[in-house]
Amino acid sequence: LWQQCLARLERHVPLDELNTWIRPLRLDESKPDQVALQAPNDFVRDQVSEHYLSMIRDFFAANGIARDQVFIEVGNQPRRVTASKAPRQRGGVHGLDDRYRFENFVLGNSNELAFAAASQVAKKPGKAYNPLLLYGSTGLGKTHLLHAAGHQIAADNPDARVMYLHSEKFVSEMIQALRRDSIDAFKRRYRSVDTLLIDDIQFFAGKDRSQEEFFHTFNSLLESQQQIILTCDRYPKEVDGIEARLRSRFGWGLTVSIEPPDFETRVAILQKKALERDLELDDSVTFLIAKRMRSNVRDLEGALNSLIANARFSGRPIDVEYTQEILRDVLAVHDRMITIENIQKAVADFYQLRVTDLLSKRRTRSIARPRQMAMFLAKSLTQHSLPEIGNAFGGRDHTTVLHACRKIEALCETDGRLREDRARLTRELSS
Ligand code: ADP
Ligand code: MG
Repeated sequence: LWQQCLARLERHVPLDELNTWIRPLRLDESKPDQVALQAPNDFVRDQVSEHYLSMIRDFFAANGIARDQVFIEVGNQPRRVTASKAPRQRGGVHGLDDRYRFENFVLGNSNELAFAAASQVAKKPGKAYNPLLLYGSTGLGKTHLLHAAGHQIAADNPDARVMYLHSEKFVSEMIQALRRDSIDAFKRRYRSVDTLLIDDIQFFAGKDRSQEEFFHTFNSLLESQQQIILTCDRYPKEVDGIEARLRSRFGWGLTVSIEPPDFETRVAILQKKALERDLELDDSVTFLIAKRMRSNVRDLEGALNSLIANARFSGRPIDVEYTQEILRDVLAVHDRMITIENIQKAVADFYQLRVTDLLSKRRTRSIARPRQMAMFLAKSLTQHSLPEIGNAFGGRDHTTVLHACRKIEALCETDGRLREDRARLTRELSS
């Protein structure tokens, strides 16, 4: 199949490029159900990954081999450890997604602190900050950084056991273990890892027995300086339903927020993701998408994927007209869709705060008033109920939201400045 792939590439890649980059690759025959290509050095590997890998993957995908089973590594030492085949006993990774790497994470003001913290920890697991906790709303790259740190640790420490786990899975495995009377094995399993990556710890809220178990795992790992990295969708001390002792422990290491990306970062992310697919998009196209899709990277990526898929299928070039045609509905929805997230972002920008400030429990006037404004706008511009809005603001009670709405209305009667703010924000959000 690799020979067929080469023959196919000959038709699309200029001969000198083919000879320089593709021909030196060797197929690793010891991995029959994967396509493990070996490059003679880092340079060739990087060039091929950047420019040809996605074509190679296209070919194998058409022949029934999943894209993530096709990869390139240097010489005989595998750089990539695939989750499913990783050895269980000593060393190895569990549950890591190969796509999420530090190298393909795009940096901007909104995420550089989180990135720096994660890469520090990955360089010195157990020694830099422990635990590291990343928090921020959905689709901003928390899970991506979590996996990236895991990959880095595994690559630098071949003997280390690195385990990624969603909190929900922790809970369900624990329940199973209890049911099967195998809780000791469960404990051993989690306490024997060198690095534990736990995603979305807000899921522990209200699950007392899981918290108890997690608390002990957590302590045992910390004591022996095993690295723990956690993520949460809001400031962790403010997740209701998590025991105080666990909450306070989360804060022992370093807690860093990740914010929605600004325009430039959104453009950079689009360009990077397009390049990964061997496409260079015109600025007019990336600007158009980035301008209109503001709140999170996941949606941005979704729009780009659908654009590329359509263009490949129809053979049309991706220009502004085609983008508008293909993404018409998505963009229209986003334009019209005034989400709580967008409101929080707009209000935070307007008052020069961070979204996480709005979600925090801090009560200083300079934060409390903008927060009330954001709640008011959420109530008046979206269909969400009071409890839903309260929940989106760091898990507040619906009466708090009601109070905020009344307060803003009352103040606007007399306070011209605030009335002006409200009008401007409403206009900005509805335009
Ligand atoms: P979260 O866990 O915060 O909800 P994810 O990590 O799942 O978000 O990110 C959603 C998607 O956006 C993923 O596909 C991820 O790779 C991508 N993504 C997020 N931030 C970045 C970034 N800065 N650079 C590149 N891709 C990103
Ligand atoms: Mg996530």
